[in-house]
Amino acid sequence: MCLGILFLSNWFSTPRRSDSMTEELSVESKVAPPPLSCPKCSGMLPIGLGELSCTLCDARVRIDHPATRRKWREEKLTCPSCSKVLVAGVDHRPAELKCGSCNSFFTLTANVPRVEIECPGCHRNLRMKRRPGKRAISCPACDTEFTVRF
Ligand SMILES: [Zn+2]
Ligand SMILES: [Zn+2]
Ligand SMILES: [Zn+2]
Repeated sequence: MCLGILFLSNWFSTPRRSDSMTEELSVESKVAPPPLSCPKCSGMLPIGLGELSCTLCDARVRIDHPATRRKWREEKLTCPSCSKVLVAGVDHRPAELKCGSCNSFFTLTANVPRVEIECPGCHRNLRMKRRPGKRAISCPACDTEFTVRF
């Protein structure tokens, strides 16, 4: 048995399936804005720029970060259709882009930071998306149930 990292992408799956041929093409941005905490409840804010609302206390916060905007504009990514390396050229995420080489459209989605959490039952590292709030987890390897809070 390998005690490697388990990838738990299906835990937080969106209604859209990624294995469908009709799926829109998308690429996840590698650049994330700095993680910030809510000025009101000091919980974790959703990662992003612009007008954010705290999912824990509903406070509305305006966040901007010129360094992230610049990195977003200059970010290099690979076209999901023809694999050509492109420069994003836009300072917001998500963004609809068109490849200048193959003319296909795709979505450049916001980066979702991942964290590793150690299961208290079997001590494997579980990899998951870091989203604000408390979440109940059931370890896929040993079925231990525990909660995490970000
Ligand atoms: Zn808050
Ligand atoms: Zn292309
Ligand atoms: Zn476990």
